[in-house]
Amino acid sequence: MKLANRVQSLTPSTTLAITAKAKELKAQGIDIIGLGAGEPDYNTPQHIIDAAIQSMNDGQTKYTPSAGLPKLKEAIAAKLKRDQGLEYKTSEILVGSGAKHALYTLFQAILDEGDEVIVPIPYWVSYPEQIKLADGKPVYIVGTEENQYKITKEQLEQAITEKTKAVIINSPSNPTGMLYSREELAAIGEVCLAHDILIVSDEIYEKLVYGNATHTSIAEISPALKKQTIIINGVSKSHSMTGWRIGYAAGDESIIKAMTNLASHSTSNPTTTAQYGAIAAYEGPQDAVEEMRQAFEERLNKIYDKLIEIPGFSCIKPQGAFYLFPNVKRAAELTGYSNVEDFTTALLEEAKVAVIPGSGFGAPDNIRLSYATSLELLEAAIERIHSFVTSKM
Ligand code: PLP
Repeated sequence: MKLANRVQSLTPSTTLAITAKAKELKAQGIDIIGLGAGEPDYNTPQHIIDAAIQSMNDGQTKYTPSAGLPKLKEAIAAKLKRDQGLEYKTSEILVGSGAKHALYTLFQAILDEGDEVIVPIPYWVSYPEQIKLADGKPVYIVGTEENQYKITKEQLEQAITEKTKAVIINSPSNPTGMLYSREELAAIGEVCLAHDILIVSDEIYEKLVYGNATHTSIAEISPALKKQTIIINGVSKSHSMTGWRIGYAAGDESIIKAMTNLASHSTSNPTTTAQYGAIAAYEGPQDAVEEMRQAFEERLNKIYDKLIEIPGFSCIKPQGAFYLFPNVKRAAELTGYSNVEDFTTALLEEAKVAVIPGSGFGAPDNIRLSYATSLELLEAAIERIHSFVTSKM
């Protein structure tokens, strides 16, 4: 049967493709160190698991409202007040099956054919595909290495057309780990307000911030910007709950209502048990969140200096998330590879380290390494890459 055009033009996730290949090699008994992971390597905190089990034992195993349990929406509203100082009504919040699905529903709700969404490069792999699945058109702006891979107000201004509907800001960023400062966000926000462009603020890595960096949501900057912004966030990365599939969107009531209608005909509610877990995540102790943050920071500090010693690697020190995104074009050249994809394949097959080529994030000169794995493995992986590069030079 001929498949629909919309799925034929979908690019499969590069992250998942390389992870599958690494798994295949591991299954053959080959000792691969995987630095492809997009999830924390910690268990979900026990009190969250206990709360989820308790809810099932209490008989909470039925449908909930499509946009989520009122109690979870209240817990999210309380979190937004506590962490961002922002007031949201429960009617301005939708709980989805992960932040990814909240974003998918958002694009379905706001885009008509040909509507443009500005996507900064490097981007998280799913943004362009989700926009295209909603018949929209991703319009790219390149965040340069000199500007820490962030876009400027001027670049944004130039990319706007009468079809521009939204811009995505992902801070801290996957894959670069960079954060936008309050001033940078204020400048971008000014342009969005002037042109009435919706800001999609993906804050999923909010809790993973290091050194002197602090996370600011663009919605915090002014009431006008709050109105102009849809915040996307969830428990996947903050509470190590990737498999639970709970994320949310917070913003304009009419957009949330449209998203709720869409959800009512697609997913219905996110899994009831997972919602009870998420209530415990937001209402319970936050110590585990901070412990994980500290562990990631320690790993980053330990491996960053070693990474930049590898010949041909240049890397800005990330301020958040759990990824390093070095430019390795020179390393590929030095070792005789004509492009970074081939260099990445050689890293997997010869150095036995799985990393993600930057092409999937719109940045073909880079690779993404995740430090969501033990320090011991990280150090061994960097050592392997270093030896591989020097042996080939
Ligand atoms: N946004 C970014 C930037 C991500 O990196 C991810 C997950 O990798 C998501 C959203 C999706 O998170 P979730 O697991 O809640 O769907």
